[in-house]
Amino acid sequence: MNIEFVDLKRQYLSIKKEIDEAIFDSLQNTAFIGGTALKQFEDAFAQYAECTYCIPVANGTDALEIAMTALGIGAGDEVIVPANSFVASAEAVSNCGATVVFCDVDPRSYNIDVALIEPLINQKTKAIMPVHLYGRIAPMQAIQQLAKQHQLLLIEDASQAHGARYGGKMSGHYGDAATYSFYPGKNLGAYGDAGAIVTNNEALYNQAKRIANHGRIAKYNHEIIGRNSRMDALQATILNIKLNYLDDWVERRQHIARLYSELLQDNPHIQLPKDEPEDQSAYHLYVIQVAESKRNALKDHLKNKGIATGIHYPIALHQLKAYEHLQHQADDFPIAQNASKCVLSLPIYAELRDDEIEFVVESIKAFFT
Ligand SMILES: *Cc1c(COP(=O)(O)O)cnc(C)c1O
Repeated sequence: MNIEFVDLKRQYLSIKKEIDEAIFDSLQNTAFIGGTALKQFEDAFAQYAECTYCIPVANGTDALEIAMTALGIGAGDEVIVPANSFVASAEAVSNCGATVVFCDVDPRSYNIDVALIEPLINQKTKAIMPVHLYGRIAPMQAIQQLAKQHQLLLIEDASQAHGARYGGKMSGHYGDAATYSFYPGKNLGAYGDAGAIVTNNEALYNQAKRIANHGRIAKYNHEIIGRNSRMDALQATILNIKLNYLDDWVERRQHIARLYSELLQDNPHIQLPKDEPEDQSAYHLYVIQVAESKRNALKDHLKNKGIATGIHYPIALHQLKAYEHLQHQADDFPIAQNASKCVLSLPIYAELRDDEIEFVVESIKAFFT
């Protein structure tokens, strides 16, 4: 059997007719920038995300950077970011001129450890950026309380958490803004780069929208120095179709996660993802943990069986060369450091079949016997 880590072709084939027709229509209408598809996505995604406003932008990294810039975060400010994430979370902070302050993560959820945030707060701290990693929303009630207490802004990186809930609420409910990426492999993926900011704050909406479109208030009238970070109309057209399927796809991911957990629960060599009662993870990734001495061998063993896996992430952010100027030691963030050595992401996507999941599980079990 050959099992891809993410099989974008299967998903495309399942909705091919609708997609092909919509793209063809867009070409006929030469509606490439702005227009009705974009407006439709803005409204539909705001509604989906249960926020008042949505600002479609060019990608998920820009979404973070524009949201922070629009909130006035910049040079001299510090932003607290989990040490276990995709680099974009930290990169966006650096690119808006602020300083990244890493925080270690919780060993079971892999999300920012709330208990470790407060000691990092000082006069320069301007914001906290929880990242809802692997599809699981960080404990937002506690984080919001901390942010209120210290008058900090809260930007949620929800790029892996389309469709996730925490205490019944989606990303963006507790924070000043939440940002999404529609990179092709995400739970909701475009056919290229795309991203969005969602918020309930009207001033933030107006400012972010202006920044993303050259600071423009009317044609050739530019109020501030902005940038070009528009979502392509073609990507909006594709996302408008795919958004209708997102809930079904997320449910299927949750089913796959349950199946993996059921089938692997008795294996003493594997730490499974842990579900808390208030969690409704969107399972962007299904991440297990094994002994450091076994991780790479297990990955190779699965590869030999035709099963692709991933490591999210093999180098913790504080160990990246890009962040060596912060002069951290590996064990400054021991949990993130340990995760980088021990985690393994199994294939998970809506089109993955049950018999394939069983094959993955059997192959893992065979490795440990
Ligand atoms: C994918 C991702 C991003 C950035 O998305 P792009 O659209 O690739 O810029 C940011 N944060 C996290 C956690 C991500 O997984």
